[in-house]
Amino acid sequence: MAPTALILRAEKPHKRKWSEWDYALSEALTLIKQETCQRCGNYTYVCHSDHPNIRFSVTEDVCEGERALDAYRDARKDKPKDFGVSLRARAYTIDGSDLTDYRRGYYKQYSTDYNEWLSSHQTISER
Ligand SMILES: [Zn+2]
Repeated sequence: MAPTALILRAEKPHKRKWSEWDYALSEALTLIKQETCQRCGNYTYVCHSDHPNIRFSVTEDVCEGERALDAYRDARKDKPKDFGVSLRARAYTIDGSDLTDYRRGYYKQYSTDYNEWLSSHQTISER
């Protein structure tokens, strides 16, 4: 699917022809994925560098889906392994609301948390 068809919410996105912008966006996404470390999520030029100016702080990031998978695995730890079976956490709401209703609130909180974290990690010369 052409990226611009998705971004611009085209009516029949799968039938839209790829433009120069679509190829450029696709290449940009490929580069971002290639340069993102699969282990820590930082750009590889950052986390693979031993430059003395680069440091890391560790924060806890909770994934409720992973928590459900861990609980499931823990409950089945004494049972025989189901070879070839992979687990997937599927989200649902207990009141039938749409999961996308929670997007705006999440990012609003994420933005607040990130800005608080950022201001607490600025050096005195940056303030
Ligand atoms: Zn890394």
